[in-house]
Amino acid sequence: MKERIKIAVQKSGRLTEHSITLLQKCGLIISHTKDQLIGYGENMPFDIMFVRDDDIPGLIQENLCEIGIVGANVAREKQLSYESSRSSSNFDLESSLDFGHCKLSFAYPESSSIRSVNDLDGKTIATSYPFTVKNYFTKNSIDANVTEFSGAVELAPSLGKADAICDLVSTGNTLRAHNLMAGETILESVATVLKSKSEQSEFKSMWIEKIIERINGVLQVNESKYIMMHAPKNAINEITKLLPGTESPTVIPLDGVNDTVAVHVVCKETVFWETLEELKDVGASSILVVPVEKMLM
Ligand code: ATP
Ligand code: ZN
Repeated sequence: MKERIKIAVQKSGRLTEHSITLLQKCGLIISHTKDQLIGYGENMPFDIMFVRDDDIPGLIQENLCEIGIVGANVAREKQLSYESSRSSSNFDLESSLDFGHCKLSFAYPESSSIRSVNDLDGKTIATSYPFTVKNYFTKNSIDANVTEFSGAVELAPSLGKADAICDLVSTGNTLRAHNLMAGETILESVATVLKSKSEQSEFKSMWIEKIIERINGVLQVNESKYIMMHAPKNAINEITKLLPGTESPTVIPLDGVNDTVAVHVVCKETVFWETLEELKDVGASSILVVPVEKMLM
């Protein structure tokens, strides 16, 4: 039987749909029914393991999966926990993706006198990220206690279990509903591809590199645009400077015209209206911006 690579993704939650879509955009056809915990890659040697997000780093650590998609918040917390037991993590945070944005931030009860991390000495902080929070306290010489809460962290102060909390926030609504005020952010997180550091067979390495290259290609495509315009020959340098992330432009002569050419470029960053106006100012006309479907650098 041919070797297969296991990719761990969240079974059901905020990252699930984005993770599956990303793999599909990489060309992977996944056959999977709702209750199955394993999806089968029909056209490539990948199997998808659907698990709780918190289990993803551990599966790679234990060599049960080679790749995972998980929030950097979870990955960093697990890395710190492995380091605290004097082992090191067996995975790298390989590519930051374009979904799952959130912040790990402190929050203080409105009724308390705590207004910043400087007021936390001697206090107790509830969090689901004890290693990340302890690490922050150590680095910033703050002498506070950390108590682990696995869910409903925001209830800890009103239950008398903590003086403040450190939790994931995307909007302040949950905090306000619990009479908490947002404090300092200690980690800005985004969904991330984890890659095993274990040595792999030649076959597996080749496919792992291939999928990671495709993931990076998909990320670039999301931002990239193909831009076509007519421009005076002598404005090409200025045009390239106005378009960030472009390689050498393709310059095509126009039939019967001497000083004007067609310029085509791939721009790897978002193209704003302002940029188009600046292009016009340096002499470009008939400017077309079209989306890019696939890209392999
Ligand atoms: P599981 O059952 O898999 O353990 P969960 O409840 O831990 O699920 P979700 O709430 O689906 O997980 O969040 C998964 C990840 O999504 C988080 O670890 C984080 O990286 C990211 N995320 C993005 N926005 C938020 C948010 N507002 N609150 C919590 N997590 C968020
Ligand atoms: Zn979780």
